[in-house]
Amino acid sequence: MAHRIRENDTIEVLTGKDRGRRGKVQRIMTRESRVLVEGMNMVKRHQKASGDLRQAGIISKEAPLQISNVRLVCTQCNTGVRVGFQLLEDGRKVRVCRSCQQMIDV
Ligand SMILES: [Zn+2]
Repeated sequence: MAHRIRENDTIEVLTGKDRGRRGKVQRIMTRESRVLVEGMNMVKRHQKASGDLRQAGIISKEAPLQISNVRLVCTQCNTGVRVGFQLLEDGRKVRVCRSCQQMIDV
């Protein structure tokens, strides 16, 4: 199945402390149905100095979000929207905004 969210998409967070914020998708974790979004869902982690250059101490890091808790931002609607799919005549499958029907992948 094609994915509704892809890397480098701008998404809006629907739940949690970052609700309403927007960010860019860094990584899709398909198996876990999670996405990693730049600067979103930051958590502090204690890290031991291990290996060569790793710094010990507390670091801030993004934690993945559930893919169902984010929505793709439609540039036309300027909000997080539901995504549908449309099959083009040349056989390509593109994502469309369910609100304004604008094609997202062109
Ligand atoms: Zn739209």
